[in-house]
Amino acid sequence: MRSPDPALTVHKFGGAALADAAAIRKVTSIVASDAMPQKVVVASAMLGVTDDLLHVARQAAAGGQVQSRLDALRERHLTAARSLGIDGGNRTLLVAQIEKTFDELHRMCVQIATAGELTSAMTDAFLAHGDRSAATLLAAALTASGVAAKFVEATDVVRADGPHGNASPDIEQTADAAETLLRPIIHGGVVPVIPGFIGRSPWGEIVTLGRGGSDLTATLLGRVLGARDVILWKDVPGLLTADPRVVADARLIPVLHVREASELAYYGAKVLHPRALIALQAGTRLIIRPYADPAAHGTEIVVERERKPAVGRARRPVKALTAIADQTLLTIAGNGMVGVPGVAARAFGALERAGVSVSLISQASSEHSICMGIPMSAANAGAAALREAFVAELARREIDAIEVRSDLATIAVVGLGMAGTPGVAARLFGALADEGVNVVAIAQGASELNISVVVEGRDAAAAQRAIHSAFRLDKIGGGAAVHPEHADVVILGFGQIGRELATQIATHSSRASEQVQARVVAVVDRSGYVFDARGLSSKRLEALNAAKSARTPLSSVRRGVRAIAEEAIAAISAHALSRPILVDVTAGDTGSVLEAALSRGMDLVLANKRPLAGPEKDARAFAHAVASQGRRLLHEATVGAGLPIIDTIQKLTESGDQVLRIEGCPSGTLGYLLGEMGRGTSFSRALRSAMNHGYTEPDPRDDLSGMDVARKALILGRLIGFSGELTDVQVESLVPDALRELPLDVFLTRLHEVDEMWEQRVREARDHKTVLRYRATVTKREARVGIVAVDASSSLASLAGTDNHFSFTTRRYRANPLVITGPGAGAEVTAAGVLNDVLKVAGTR
Ligand code: ADP
Ligand code: ASP
Ligand code: MG
Repeated sequence: MRSPDPALTVHKFGGAALADAAAIRKVTSIVASDAMPQKVVVASAMLGVTDDLLHVARQAAAGGQVQSRLDALRERHLTAARSLGIDGGNRTLLVAQIEKTFDELHRMCVQIATAGELTSAMTDAFLAHGDRSAATLLAAALTASGVAAKFVEATDVVRADGPHGNASPDIEQTADAAETLLRPIIHGGVVPVIPGFIGRSPWGEIVTLGRGGSDLTATLLGRVLGARDVILWKDVPGLLTADPRVVADARLIPVLHVREASELAYYGAKVLHPRALIALQAGTRLIIRPYADPAAHGTEIVVERERKPAVGRARRPVKALTAIADQTLLTIAGNGMVGVPGVAARAFGALERAGVSVSLISQASSEHSICMGIPMSAANAGAAALREAFVAELARREIDAIEVRSDLATIAVVGLGMAGTPGVAARLFGALADEGVNVVAIAQGASELNISVVVEGRDAAAAQRAIHSAFRLDKIGGGAAVHPEHADVVILGFGQIGRELATQIATHSSRASEQVQARVVAVVDRSGYVFDARGLSSKRLEALNAAKSARTPLSSVRRGVRAIAEEAIAAISAHALSRPILVDVTAGDTGSVLEAALSRGMDLVLANKRPLAGPEKDARAFAHAVASQGRRLLHEATVGAGLPIIDTIQKLTESGDQVLRIEGCPSGTLGYLLGEMGRGTSFSRALRSAMNHGYTEPDPRDDLSGMDVARKALILGRLIGFSGELTDVQVESLVPDALRELPLDVFLTRLHEVDEMWEQRVREARDHKTVLRYRATVTKREARVGIVAVDASSSLASLAGTDNHFSFTTRRYRANPLVITGPGAGAEVTAAGVLNDVLKVAGTR
């Protein structure tokens, strides 16, 4: 509102800081020793008082006994008043004020009991007395200790609007009131002491700002008065990496960006009111500090952009985690939703009108279902609102049902450094899987600032501890530095994907925040290899990249060694490598190289399909060798480039599900080709364009023949129990017989010969309101790949560009298959898939 006043501090004391007279005396000394000439103090109710008052009011409404509990509260306040060392008249006055407050509370209880119900307006009026009493006590204690202080009624300053129990401050009006009422007091050298949590509505009623709202009162006053610092004095050293009651080794976070802090507050970290940060503005520092140790640094929450680098320089992508308990997931599921715009918007609208706040939304890309996380207390209201909003769709069976699943918890993992850092999700889900925690739903904000997972409520604590330790959050701030352990990567195959991977690994590891570090120690091609046990620097990799792009074989570059791959592996593994991983990004028959690597203690990551799509007995022997030597083999990129296809199959299987059928379009190349032709491009032009984009194998007939898709189908099939050979996969080839055996250059000059045939095929499909797709279907008993005409309105038809599509029919997802869609071709996404596997292997040993 106004430029920050360098001389003003807002101090807020939470319940724990005002537990009893001793605590309150400590607070007076904190205020007294603040050298700032101008101060404002916000007080919340004494420890536990708001909860107690709420309980009393509810009891009264239910016709229960409240006298003894109310008396106990009265006694607690009176004891504090008498023990604060206040003399004579002031003490008598204070005691009388407290007696009056409790008489009033008693009168209200009678009123509530007579009405037999507790309105939210009455609740607010009732609870307000807790924070007022605490502020009254604190003002008197400050005065007695020699600090000129004055109780100021919050309803005279804080203007707020919105529902009772959760009102929002009106910044403009509050600013005006603060200017007229508070500023003169402050300038007069007196400290105004204001109850937190409460304000006045436009109708003159008392409203509260939501539980924990005194934090918001503090940041609000800080803003309208232009404070330099707002200090929230708490019973913890500051904002911690996790709730210390759940995670014993939670650590202090010294500096946090306001966006990170907001995510944490919003997702349930009880230390901060979720809306307190909205009022914070640049120029004001928000500090969370322990009242038990006033000299401590605490946590500083910063807003300014220029402070961001300092924050981002933190070495970890994940800063903290938090959990919201007692959540319900509402799921809207049904075939009729596919492609219907506005379902999510209508669902949101309906929930908003019902006053239900949504903490999380997750939609399967198939659009078959949308699920929303809401507080369990709103489960009935939320479900009813959705049933009403979609009554027509439910009647028409476009929506099967509104499902309600309760007793869940949402865990949010937060950190600015997560944006663009691969492997965070892998580490998160790895940690949960190792802990045996079942993940019910997942959502990641587009900002990548937060990944939220929904788990069973009973798993929440174990999940938080597992995640905390997986990201080594116990080492943040006060903890000792961890030395990143390297995984040494040998890249077999230095073509498009291999080179892209080398670049991605170098970029990944240059981020100081990375826990799991991977570095490339060797690159191998058909001619030989280049190796450096200390890791190939990014500069060196760049030079190798350039050389390879200019067609120089690795054996001819500086310090290149001529060798066949097996010899290269033998030579490389003679060195003491740390956690060596061989990555096969060739398209060749590398079985014997992989064996050599395995027997020398390397883990394997494959993008190469051949070793897994060869004769069944070889594939089995290979799997056996991996298992018996305790090595790991990951090959996500053999199927859907960077998409989590195999991971999904494994997760489903591990959780006791059984995959019955996989159907989809696993070829980005053919998808692109058919998509282009569907738009009227001729076959020959579409193919050339695919080649120019790098979507095809060097000889595009490898794609057109369907063999590439057949290998993928076989790999997937073998994962779900298909027993057979590549020759058992039924394959439809798109290469005309006449062109099959030609040399590549001749083949390319004769492409136009088939343009007309394709044009006709595409037109026929269109006339039938269908679209051509190259589809794979895999079950335990059969595997086939070929062209199909799919309905123009189906999800397969809507695939764009090189998108892949996989749908899994399983025991659990029988009526409504689980669908994964996303880009499935190109060096970049494939290399990213490989990198993810590399980090997974490196991170879990
Ligand atoms: P106040 O006394 O100011 O109202 P609260 O009781 O609202 O303070 O918040 C402090 C409490 O928040 C701590 O006692 C701690 O148990 C809990 N808490 C939850 N998550 C965190 C976290 N990430 N960092 C610090 N405290 C947390
Ligand atoms: N006394 C109120 C509550 O307990 C406000 C606060 O403590 O911040 O929610
Ligand atoms: Mg609080």
